[in-house]
Amino acid sequence: MCIFCKIVSREIPSHIIYEDDTVMAILDISQVTKGHTLVLSKKHYDDFMDCPVETLAKIMNVSQIVTQRINDRLHPRGFNLLSNLGEAAGQSVDHVHFHIIPRYNENDELTITFHPSNRNERLEDTAKILKEK
Ligand code: 5GP
Ligand code: ZN
Repeated sequence: MCIFCKIVSREIPSHIIYEDDTVMAILDISQVTKGHTLVLSKKHYDDFMDCPVETLAKIMNVSQIVTQRINDRLHPRGFNLLSNLGEAAGQSVDHVHFHIIPRYNENDELTITFHPSNRNERLEDTAKILKEK
């Protein structure tokens, strides 16, 4: 059984801040920023691609509820919502989940930077590949 399945079954304790039949929201043990939360499906799916769209919709619905609650009570200046898909992207627990990361200032513990590439040739090539039916 994976670590999040153990959390769902209460074999491992966690701070559950929201729960319904399908979805659970828990505080991430690492608290990258204050209020860092994980929203996960109660049923085990390995990742985003493995998860049925109906369940993803429920995860998104709960993510919005939880984001609102964090916003009202902790007053961050913004949020990053993200799901790491695959080891190369930093996924360390193979059970579908979304991170809700409140942001308080640009010098907090999280850095997400898009470095602009300006490679027009890459843009055109990629567009060709992905637009193909
Ligand atoms: P990933 O790296 O897969 O995107 O995210 C997994 C997250 O799960 C990490 O941010 C990590 O801190 C969190 N995590 C790992 N083990 C536990 C645990 O036992 N309890 C809680 N609450 N979070 C955990
Ligand atoms: Zn699991």
